[in-house]
Amino acid sequence: MGYLGCHLSSAGGYAAMCKTAAAIGADTFQFFTRNPRGGKAKALDPADAAVLAGEMAAGRLGPVIAHAPYTINPCSQDPRVREFALNTMADDLSRLELLPGALYNFHPGSHVGQGEEAGIALIAETLNQVLRPEEHTPVLLETMAGKGSEVGGTFESLRAILDRVERSDRMGVCLDTCHVHDAGYDIVGSLDGVLEEFDRVIGLSRLKAIHLNDSKNPRGARKDRHEVIGGGEIGLQALVAVVRHPALYHLPMVLETPNELPGYAAEIALLRKEAKA
Ligand code: FE
Ligand code: FE
Ligand code: ZN
Repeated sequence: MGYLGCHLSSAGGYAAMCKTAAAIGADTFQFFTRNPRGGKAKALDPADAAVLAGEMAAGRLGPVIAHAPYTINPCSQDPRVREFALNTMADDLSRLELLPGALYNFHPGSHVGQGEEAGIALIAETLNQVLRPEEHTPVLLETMAGKGSEVGGTFESLRAILDRVERSDRMGVCLDTCHVHDAGYDIVGSLDGVLEEFDRVIGLSRLKAIHLNDSKNPRGARKDRHEVIGGGEIGLQALVAVVRHPALYHLPMVLETPNELPGYAAEIALLRKEAKA
């Protein structure tokens, strides 16, 4: 199996997350680059970042995922909201230069009535301003549940964004199992079929990370409510199949299930055991 971990609080800094990861049996993790509801990032501590960069360079940790705050909206109709998204992403990416090997993941946004086409164009425009040639961090579009006017609920919409980004060599996709299930993709009945469709529409080489979550809702509900592993509509066996799948074997997989650390430790142990069985 690939690297397995969970979402961690970044309140104590990078080195603290490395310690926590080791304590719960994780060999990757995800964190918010700043308060998930937006706001200012903490002052950069290069020595602290060097600890995490060192763990990745030594291979003790797989690629970690830096998640953008989920309130930014790069395809808002309001130019000030778009500019806030642009500035936030640009600042995050400049800070991430201290963490070679890390991935940057964001929610494409909500078009709020403008229509998906207009939303797609605005997201790509934002990315074309954000991606600087001298920077390195891969930028991932997260697959979304398609709640409300969310862009990214279909593989086609993600492909349309990628097609418009000039530096698309920096771009990838993070597949969230709860989101694709809620968006209608049948990962329970036909994981191979969904991955074939992903490959045909986007290309599997673009897939850089997995968010491993069960879902509180039936397939196609377009809700986005995460559930603990095995406690929802996707179920343990389908999630184990994701962890074991040869096409996904090399990817960092991160739990975003409703858990505290002991729950995460138990889910990581369970998935490792089931993946070997
Ligand atoms: Fe997310
Ligand atoms: Fe996610
Ligand atoms: Zn979600």
